[in-house]
Amino acid sequence: MLKLFCPDLFIQDIYELDLNHIKKNSIKGILVDLDNTLLPWDSMYIEDKLIDWTKRCLNEGFSLCIISNNRYDRIKYCSEHLGIPAVFGSFKPCKSAFKKGMDILGTQPKETAVLGDQIFTDIFGAKRMGLYAILVKPLSSRELYWTKIMRVLERRLLKILESKKLISLI
Ligand SMILES: [Mg+2]
Repeated sequence: MLKLFCPDLFIQDIYELDLNHIKKNSIKGILVDLDNTLLPWDSMYIEDKLIDWTKRCLNEGFSLCIISNNRYDRIKYCSEHLGIPAVFGSFKPCKSAFKKGMDILGTQPKETAVLGDQIFTDIFGAKRMGLYAILVKPLSSRELYWTKIMRVLERRLLKILESKKLISLI
């Protein structure tokens, strides 16, 4: 049961992601969360380094797709400015969101990674479908009130995972 909440990789941020490492794990496509993973929750500002990261992933042969529970217009704005597709109208951790994402990427579950900052949406959604789950630390402490509540549970869960040596805290 705990394994459903346990990321395969836990890194500081997207820039720390070792593309060769995930390539060796047969990953061909990445479903990437938006808020507090690609951009701070309250920001629309797309930094050059994020554009460069996106290009580097694409140049390395990965497909990318945004998967977010935020508003349509925010997802669309980021999708257009980064030049990568997005899933619309489905919400994590529902299976339909990840299935739609894999349809867009053109990947099988074993070839798909999910990159996100929340255990109960990104990681749980990925693990229960057999996807490779990568947890990043949230970019900002600003987020929805509901998310802040979930963070309390998340921190407790991370400590349990660490005590069972299922994860290394960073
Ligand atoms: Mg997020």
